[in-house]
Amino acid sequence: MHINIQTLLIQIKKICEHRHVKLTAQRLEVLRLISQQYHQSISAYDLLNLLRTSSLPHAKPSTIYRALHFLLAQRFIHRIESTNKFMLCKYFLELSHNFVFFICNHCKQVTEQTIKGVEEILHHTAKLRGFVISNNIIESHGLCFNCTNSTHVSITNSSFLSQRK
Ligand SMILES: [Zn+2]
Ligand SMILES: [Zn+2]
Repeated sequence: MHINIQTLLIQIKKICEHRHVKLTAQRLEVLRLISQQYHQSISAYDLLNLLRTSSLPHAKPSTIYRALHFLLAQRFIHRIESTNKFMLCKYFLELSHNFVFFICNHCKQVTEQTIKGVEEILHHTAKLRGFVISNNIIESHGLCFNCTNSTHVSITNSSFLSQRK
């Protein structure tokens, strides 16, 4: 899928104006760097290195963490819990969405996919135990379509984190 990063950043700037939150130059730059990795997730460490080589040679880890905190709070990006990496939310225009991440163990591609039904099942099951779920994170590890058809890699590891006992 092709995305126009410029268009995307303009959309996000408008959303920030509308929400009366400040998209500083640093936050915008971190978002731009994350957007460039459209099909990949990126670690805070790699982001820091990119930021230092792109525009802020003296960027500190705290610069990255503050920007990430802001972008997560505004739901422009997601944190992949199982790998501790970050990626652009493909559905940031929607107020809320249920999604699953498909993470390829071979090429590291991450796909965000909206899903229906799973949330209802989880909430229903939790209710039976008197448990109230505040949020779910569903991350499935395996092999993407391309890797399934082009490699001999057979390592799969599915984690359904929210249901892990
Ligand atoms: Zn999302
Ligand atoms: Zn793959």
